[in-house]
Amino acid sequence: MAPTVEGRPALAPEVVAAAVSEHYGLAGRLRPLPAEWDQNFRLDAEDAGTFAVKIANAGTPDDELDLQNAALAWIAERWSEAPTPRAIATSEGATILTFDGPNGASNRLRLLTWRPGEPLSALPAPPLATLEALGRLLGELDRSLDGFTHPAMARPIGWDLARAAAISSRTAAIRDPRRRGLVEQLLLQFQARVAPRLPALPQSVIHNDANDENVLVAPSAEGGRHIAGLVDFGDMVRTATVCEPAVAAAYACLKLGDPLEAIARVAGGYHVARPLSEAEVGALFPLVLMRLGVSVATSAVAAVEDPDNPHRRISDRAAWAALERLAGLDWNEVEERLRAAFGLGVRSRPTPAAVGRGGAKLLAERRLRIAPSLSLSYREPLQIAGGRGAYLFDPAGRAYLDCVNNVCHVGHGHPRVVAALSRQAAALNTNTRYLHPLIVEYARRLTATLPERLSVCYFVNSGSEANDLAVRIARTVTGRRDVVVMDGAYHGNTQTLVDLSPYKAEGPGGRGLAPWAHKVPAPDPYRGEHRGADEAAGAAYAEQVGDVCERLVGEGRPPALFLVEPILGCGGQVVPPPAYLREAFWHVRAVGGLCLADEVQVGLGRVGTSMWAFEQHGVVPDLVTLGKPIGNGHPLGAVVTTAEVANAFADGMEFFSTFGGNPVSMAVGLAVLDVLEGQRLREKALATGGYLIDGFRALARRHPQIGDVRGSGLFLGVELVESPETLEPATALTAAVVERAKADGVLLSAEGPHHNVLKIKPPMVFGETEADLLLGAVDRALATARDDAPVLPFSD
Ligand code: PMP
Repeated sequence: MAPTVEGRPALAPEVVAAAVSEHYGLAGRLRPLPAEWDQNFRLDAEDAGTFAVKIANAGTPDDELDLQNAALAWIAERWSEAPTPRAIATSEGATILTFDGPNGASNRLRLLTWRPGEPLSALPAPPLATLEALGRLLGELDRSLDGFTHPAMARPIGWDLARAAAISSRTAAIRDPRRRGLVEQLLLQFQARVAPRLPALPQSVIHNDANDENVLVAPSAEGGRHIAGLVDFGDMVRTATVCEPAVAAAYACLKLGDPLEAIARVAGGYHVARPLSEAEVGALFPLVLMRLGVSVATSAVAAVEDPDNPHRRISDRAAWAALERLAGLDWNEVEERLRAAFGLGVRSRPTPAAVGRGGAKLLAERRLRIAPSLSLSYREPLQIAGGRGAYLFDPAGRAYLDCVNNVCHVGHGHPRVVAALSRQAAALNTNTRYLHPLIVEYARRLTATLPERLSVCYFVNSGSEANDLAVRIARTVTGRRDVVVMDGAYHGNTQTLVDLSPYKAEGPGGRGLAPWAHKVPAPDPYRGEHRGADEAAGAAYAEQVGDVCERLVGEGRPPALFLVEPILGCGGQVVPPPAYLREAFWHVRAVGGLCLADEVQVGLGRVGTSMWAFEQHGVVPDLVTLGKPIGNGHPLGAVVTTAEVANAFADGMEFFSTFGGNPVSMAVGLAVLDVLEGQRLREKALATGGYLIDGFRALARRHPQIGDVRGSGLFLGVELVESPETLEPATALTAAVVERAKADGVLLSAEGPHHNVLKIKPPMVFGETEADLLLGAVDRALATARDDAPVLPFSD
């Protein structure tokens, strides 16, 4: 439960006065106070002083009110001078008074001692000394709260910066696309660079809302201002303690000419009372920005759902101004400045300028030393220095959201995979001519994920090697040579595979398919010959496979193999219609051919509904090839087949791969399976994929250039067209969207025969926050992109 607009109480003052009189024995003048969710009054009681009367929002749980009262009592006991209110008990001894209002609804009232002073927000600009005093007060408050616990302290609240990711679903309410982009890029950087570090920082229950409305100041004897009060404990939460000064600093910098000075003063004052660690100082500035980001995103939602309550948008204008000023600053440079303010030494980090120069030099040298047939992504190539989860980092530390890397399946740099790799590398790495348990264990674990018939493995080092070997197996076993492939498909970089891959053989520099390779049309339900994702279209496309098989039989060269991706990758993220694979396999088998599912791109749980994409079609292939994801970036590929096929292939000629199946690769493969299962990433892919499909379909209603949204789990394609009627491919627009998204820190690429399909196949740890960031970037890119980018055809 959380406070709601409808739950805001609106009691008549007489009703409140009667309750206060009956249960507290107090009478006096009641004046309404502004409030975000509650109903608050100031009570000037005859003879007894001043109080705050707070009537809680109906959506606020009881234990949250109790958390506040318990914390106030705890603070008062440990710090008698604390400028915080105290909760007064009723004459019956209750700290929360529950009473029925005139309409029968139950109300919860709390009476707090009044704190004198005016809000800090009333000062045109807070004096620096006051900011230091505020920092010190918060440091003392947090010291006094040390050890405080309460059942409600860990409830999820939107203002907890450790949960700032939740605003990803709210940024769409920010109407101005430039401002929306600013907040989404901030969130992206925060998620990648700061959020993962927060749990390791000191944690405690904090006030969490020292904004300039909640901090009260009064003239001091020396002529300045002192902090006279800190009120509103409704957002208390257990989180990273450093959020406390960060929240205060976010508001302190709203009115100052030098916001960084304001942050340094608040944090510096805090440091005197409760010293901050280096890691906390490092998190400070991003936390300040994120608080401003949460504030403006929350205001944007409030403007829609609660337009008549200006209190909920109180800091909006100033927060935007601060955010716009601060968002362009380099976090590393700001960290250095704050470190200097704390007397900490300079850290040796490359400056962005040095990184830029390094990048240009690297590019020049790469052009000399690396074969020119290998292209780089993007008009201005990116230098990537690190990766974690679904994020990549350039050498300056800027984060990019990786939406295309289906190789680092369980996330970039997954600690468990890295540990397994380095442990085994330190113990032994050798070829497979000795008995070793890992190869057997991995084969057992891997085949356990496949249909029972697929029980025998060959291990190699790449998808290409796997497909090349599978073609060789099929040819040996059938005694035939010809192969049936899908138009637009890519299966690998060996000569055999280039000769049979239309994507290469018929692409730039291609010399055409080999005479033994025969293509069938891609079963594309969107722009192909048979439209619609139904069984009739599936059967019609499968018929074309049957026709080729029949022709080949007629020509005296029946096919050895039908080689197919269950969802086309380089072919444009095309999902074959239902019944297609079942009937196509039937036609191939009817003429004695074998069927191979290339799961190099789509396999290992990516499609969400099942571990392997072919399972969606209710078929069992004779051979399956695996690559990319199974090693999470470590070179590992496999062919899995039936015992009959494997036995028939064992004709005396050895199959040996020097590296294939080595213990390090097997340890990695096992760790990947452990993580996939342990973190339930297949299930997560299904959920996130569904969320993305819905999100892209919603975008399509606003952007008619989105012609088709398709795929399964985290293997999706978004096809862009000039017109939904003609389906003319929007190739240049697609390239421009890719470039725009990159500028926003979101990495996508274009795919398909017309290079007009945005391919989405991120690491499987991609969640809803990342999905929101991706949707936001594509939304903005479509709104602004012009046909201004070149197309770079490449396959990965
Ligand atoms: N099969 C498919 C479907 C692929 O997409 C690829 C690579 N893009 C390969 C095989 C070849 O894999 P690798 O690059 O690991 O050799």
